[in-house]
Amino acid sequence: MADQQSILVVSAHAADFVWRAGGAIALYASRGYRVRILCLSFGERGESQGAWKQPGMTIDRVKEIRRAESTGAAGILGAEIRFFDSGDYPIQPTQETIEAMVAEYRELQPAFVLTHSFLDPYNPDHPTANRVTLETRVYAQALGYPAPGKPLDAPPVFIFEPHQPEQCEFKPEVLLDVTPVWEAKHKAMESMEAQTHLWEYYTDLAKRRGTQLKRNAGPNLGLPQSALGEAYMRVFPQVTDRLS
Ligand SMILES: [Zn+2]
Repeated sequence: MADQQSILVVSAHAADFVWRAGGAIALYASRGYRVRILCLSFGERGESQGAWKQPGMTIDRVKEIRRAESTGAAGILGAEIRFFDSGDYPIQPTQETIEAMVAEYRELQPAFVLTHSFLDPYNPDHPTANRVTLETRVYAQALGYPAPGKPLDAPPVFIFEPHQPEQCEFKPEVLLDVTPVWEAKHKAMESMEAQTHLWEYYTDLAKRRGTQLKRNAGPNLGLPQSALGEAYMRVFPQVTDRLS
C-alpha cells in the first residue's frame, strides 16, 4: 500500500462531503486512490432535521443514525471515514483532534485536500472546519511539530461548493467532470435519508456546473452531451511551468 496515492477530505458534518465533494471522492477512488474522510461532527444539532422529526428522538440516537448514513455513503463512494465527534453548533475540536489530524496528514501524505469555504454565514461550523484543516496542514509541515511520520509537503487545498455560494464568497475556479461516477454520487446522496430535500437540489447543481464545464472546455475535450460537474476554489496558487 506504500505506493498508493491518497487524498484527504475534511467534512464538518456527517453529510457535507456527500453533497459537495461526492463526485471528486468517487472519481479518485475509481482511479485507485486511497480516499480518507475526516468527519468532525455528526451534525446532530444543525443538519439532522429529518431525524429530529421522528418521535422519541435523542441526541445519541441522532448521532447513531448520522454515523450509519455517513459510513454507508463513504462506502458507496469508495472512501474510508473517521469520526471525531467534536460537538455540533458549535464544533469545538480538542487538542487531541488537532494532533490526530496532524498525524493523519503525515501518514497519508495526500496528493490534495478538500474542505469547506472560509466563510459561511449560514453555518459557523463550516469555516471552523476550514480553519482546522488549514491549521493542521501547516503544523504537519513543520519539522519541529511533535507528531509521528515525515513532515508534510505542500498538498493543494480545494474548497468545495457551499450550499449558498454567493453568500460564502465562492466563485468556481475549477470545474471537475464527475459524469463517469455520477451514479455512485447519486446513490450516496440517497443514503442520506435525514436530508431527502437535498437530493434534487444537488442533482440540479451538478447539471448546471456540467453545462458551465462544457462551455469552458470547448468542443474538443470529448465531454458527453449531458456532463455533470462539481465546482471548487483553490486556496493556494497553482504551481506550473506552462500557461495553457
Ligand atoms: Zn455541514
